[in-house]
Amino acid sequence: MTQHSPHLGIGARIGTGFVVVLALMVALSAIGLRYVAEANQHLKDITQNNNVKIELATEMHSALRERAIAMHTLPSISDPFDKDAEIQRANAQATRYAKARARLESMPLNQEEHEILARIFNMTHEAGSEVQAIMEMSTFNDNPTEVFEFIRDVAMPRQRLIAEQVDILLTLQRKQTAQAVQTAEQSYAHVRDLMLGLGTAALLIGIMIAGFVSQRVARQAGQLETQAMYDLLTGLPNRSLLHDRLNHAIELSKRKPTSFGLILMDLDRFKEINDTLGHDVGDEVLREVGRRLKATIRAEDTVARLGGDEYVLLIDDLEPQGATLIANKILASLDRPFFWQNQSIDLGASLGCSFYPSQCGDASGLLRCADIAMYVAKRSGQGYALYSPDQEVTSRDDLSLKSELREAIQKDQLCLHYQPQIDHRTQRIVGLEALVRWQHPQRGFLAPDTFIPQAEEAGLIGPLTLWVLKSALARQASLQQQGLLLNMAVNLSARNLHDLELPASVLRLLRESGVDPKYLTLEITESAVMSNPSDGLAILSELDRMGVKLAIDDFGTGYSSLAYLKRLPVDELKIDKSLVTDMEVNENDAVIVRSTIDLAHNLGLKVTAEGVETQDVWDTLSILGCDQSQGYFMGSPMSEEKLDAWLGELVPPSRSKRALHVM
Ligand code: C2E
Ligand code: CA
Ligand code: CA
Repeated sequence: MTQHSPHLGIGARIGTGFVVVLALMVALSAIGLRYVAEANQHLKDITQNNNVKIELATEMHSALRERAIAMHTLPSISDPFDKDAEIQRANAQATRYAKARARLESMPLNQEEHEILARIFNMTHEAGSEVQAIMEMSTFNDNPTEVFEFIRDVAMPRQRLIAEQVDILLTLQRKQTAQAVQTAEQSYAHVRDLMLGLGTAALLIGIMIAGFVSQRVARQAGQLETQAMYDLLTGLPNRSLLHDRLNHAIELSKRKPTSFGLILMDLDRFKEINDTLGHDVGDEVLREVGRRLKATIRAEDTVARLGGDEYVLLIDDLEPQGATLIANKILASLDRPFFWQNQSIDLGASLGCSFYPSQCGDASGLLRCADIAMYVAKRSGQGYALYSPDQEVTSRDDLSLKSELREAIQKDQLCLHYQPQIDHRTQRIVGLEALVRWQHPQRGFLAPDTFIPQAEEAGLIGPLTLWVLKSALARQASLQQQGLLLNMAVNLSARNLHDLELPASVLRLLRESGVDPKYLTLEITESAVMSNPSDGLAILSELDRMGVKLAIDDFGTGYSSLAYLKRLPVDELKIDKSLVTDMEVNENDAVIVRSTIDLAHNLGLKVTAEGVETQDVWDTLSILGCDQSQGYFMGSPMSEEKLDAWLGELVPPSRSKRALHVM
């Protein structure tokens, strides 16, 4: 599955955001600076030129004034030298004026300036002849009054007109400078507005990016929370969320007196489904179980998956009576078969319930209590159990039993009892069934029903089975040496059919003991074969190829699939003792026993009846054509010593009028 990292996405987005904002800021600064530089240059150009122009106009103005003064002075000077000097000065002022005007004309001028200068040029041109006349009149005319009048009435008004034009020019240039400054100010204001606008835009974009990123972060945080709080496979709350809700429910119960219940559920055959049909089927089964559980409870209650095939239901207002109802509802919902590609899969479950308030205490205490109850339910096979404190003892005992069992196998604390199997036709002993016992140092003599399930759960059934096989084969070999060739039957457990090494181990033990494989019968129940059909069939076929005989144990108790039985390499059916023992009084049982014997014979199988406790049953079985039997009537399971003694009495008078011969 490809999954992109959320952190990478956010990082990239934040990075992009910063780059965008940074680029905007840089662009903004560049534009602003260019704008300011342009405005500055513009202002500089205008002010520099205008300053020069103002200077030149002022120069022209002052030259005009100086010459006017000279013209006023001239008529009143009588000394010809002084007069000449004054004329020189007036001429110098004329040159100064002409230079200034020429420079002004060479400068970049606008239309208005050109027009003013043109007017000034015309006026000075016209004034030139008047000035010349004044000079001459001052030099040659002795009547100063006439000269004065000429100056006052003709020359001066023109000079004033020229000065006026120069003033207009000066005013114009001052105005232009002021305008340039104003324009520059406007430019600065413009740049400022632009900078402000772009800055605000960048800020807005920044805020938008920050908003977007934080939204994403929040969403991704939400997703992470979902991942942390929910089981990905089923979408149900996981262990953490369950603990949260459990603690919340406890807090709530403390404030107002309410109660709630916790149901822990474990599927019975899930591992086998996973192993034989594959993980995809297993996953689908887990999802379907989740859906069915949700359908059995109210929406406000919680179904969580703890992992594996364990589920927990947290149910408000739950009393023991209600728990029983819900447990039955759940079991009924799981009773409906699951279909996978037209194949039906049967599932079972064990449920344990605990309640709040109770002495179980807090959240983990409640889970522990539910676990103990579930364990009891599994053990009893009843489907569910409600927690009660005395279950603690059982489960504690169970735990220590498991660790002790490991030791027992290693230290040979186990022993075998043997039950004879008698042939109906010859009435002779033909075989023995090895049945394990445990001589426990503290608890005394333990029957297999009390420790075989624990051995299965603790993963000890492999070594236990090998120990039984080895001991039984050794016993069989020693009997053989004494001249007693007996068949030996050894029980296998369902879990043994998961161990693909089993046939090789059996072969090794057969070789070590020197027993012919055909004198060894391995007994297995129907349900054990059904629980793991593919591996089971492979293992049984391999054992069959080795020449070992196979018997179906406890036949008639489970639901029998005869069609399937035919496909198994089986040699023998053992009719369950529950059918046999009561067959004299229970008509139904008698019918089943009779038809089972017929059916087995039709399939070419040998039939052994278990649990024969009376002469009548023995006789009836003989009439029905049963091949061989075992039971208290002929011989209970017995220790090695007792067996030796029993075998020693060829005709045990206390047991039967019949002679039970040893082969
Ligand atoms: P099973 O294989 O059906 O063994 C027969 C059981 O019936 C034995 O109980 C035996 O004592 C009992 N029995 C024999 N004759 C009579 C009778 O006439 N009437 C009645 N009511 N019962 C009779 P046991 O020895 O307690 O074994 C119980 C079960 O434990 C066995 O049932 C078998 O499934 C299992 N078991 C015993 N030994 C082993 C073993 O070595 N390995 C495994 N995997 N399971 C074993
Ligand atoms: Ca058996
Ligand atoms: Ca049996």
